[in-house]
Amino acid sequence: MHCPFCGANDTRVTDSRLVAEGDQVRRRRQCANCHERFTTYETAELLMPRVIKSDGSRESFNEAKLRDGMVRALEKRPVSAESIEAAVERIRQTLRARGDREINARDIGESVMQALKNLDQVAYIRFASVYRKFQDLDEFRAEIDRLSQEPPRITSERDKEDT
Ligand SMILES: [Zn+2]
Repeated sequence: MHCPFCGANDTRVTDSRLVAEGDQVRRRRQCANCHERFTTYETAELLMPRVIKSDGSRESFNEAKLRDGMVRALEKRPVSAESIEAAVERIRQTLRARGDREINARDIGESVMQALKNLDQVAYIRFASVYRKFQDLDEFRAEIDRLSQEPPRITSERDKEDT
């Protein structure tokens, strides 16, 4: 790595530590020539899978859109911005870990629902009622009943039909 001050390519790392919950490496470097110190940050460049929408069209994964949906559901709820960020990061990791080049939009929706369920049940119900488009009050009530029984993963009959 070239020194940003004098351009010499002999720089050495004086300190190296993990930051951003281990997703980033922060390095302090010192130039062997001019002795200036500077900092570099290193993060993995990872590609997110493409998103297959319900009409079959494809689009790029949009983290802002995902976050907006969660923030909207969590409006006026006692959940910190930090918790939301952590949840967004977990979703990204989960989706990436699948190793698929493309991913169904509904799978992302399911991940968001799962995350909201852990964060705040009111937000979860808000999101689920819009996302799943509950047919009637009975279906809505059934979902709330299911919630209280705390299943590991949500799979409704409607989902199976759609898949
Ligand atoms: Zn230098």
